[in-house]
Amino acid sequence: MAITGTLYIVSAPSGAGKSSMINAYLSRHRAYPAQVSVSHTTRASRPGEIDGNHYHFVNHDEFKKLISEQAFFEYAEVFGNFYGTSRHTIEKTLAEGIDVFLDIDWQGARQVKQMMPEAVSVFILPPSREELENRLHMRGQDSPDVIKKRMDEAESEMSHYNEYDYLIINSNFDEALSELTAIITGQRLQTRQQAAKHRGLLDELLSK
Ligand code: 5GP
Repeated sequence: MAITGTLYIVSAPSGAGKSSMINAYLSRHRAYPAQVSVSHTTRASRPGEIDGNHYHFVNHDEFKKLISEQAFFEYAEVFGNFYGTSRHTIEKTLAEGIDVFLDIDWQGARQVKQMMPEAVSVFILPPSREELENRLHMRGQDSPDVIKKRMDEAESEMSHYNEYDYLIINSNFDEALSELTAIITGQRLQTRQQAAKHRGLLDELLSK
């Protein structure tokens, strides 16, 4: 039986630390076959963001064309910009047995769960409103107006926490990372996954 990769959905309001947590997990588990999906977006790139690395930056017409070609596994309008996940990349990567992390909002998470109920969804919350606002300021990438708008949007994003399989409070980064690690480890230890991975061992143990 071939093992297909697991799809992880990770959502959080901006500033809750989800990208740092996913990246920290992957850099500490380099042998683990997994990758982060690079979304398409119509939003302008922020300083330091690289096209094709952080996002595929496209204009509205290109995004609409991709929608009409059914190129997206899911897509949504978030903060006035469009974001979408490439269907081809996700399907190909999972079929190769590689896990995929989607850093997407609740609207995308809902679409993915409908299409693929076995996807594992994780919501990350900040420890307080004050801390969330501090983190948005510290990032230094957005103007005060954008930060205020993002705080308002954060509230509506956070109201969807109960649609997710797992909930992590990112109060202490290392603890939150251990919790994410526990979720992924638990998933990888499921009998179905382990049996496919250790076929040879099982055959040997069970042969008379
Ligand atoms: P940012 O502009 O800060 O990079 O992302 C804004 C929001 O859009 C975040 O909540 C992020 O998770 C979400 N997002 C990023 N890519 C996608 C995507 O492909 N689909 C959906 N539905 N949301 C996305």
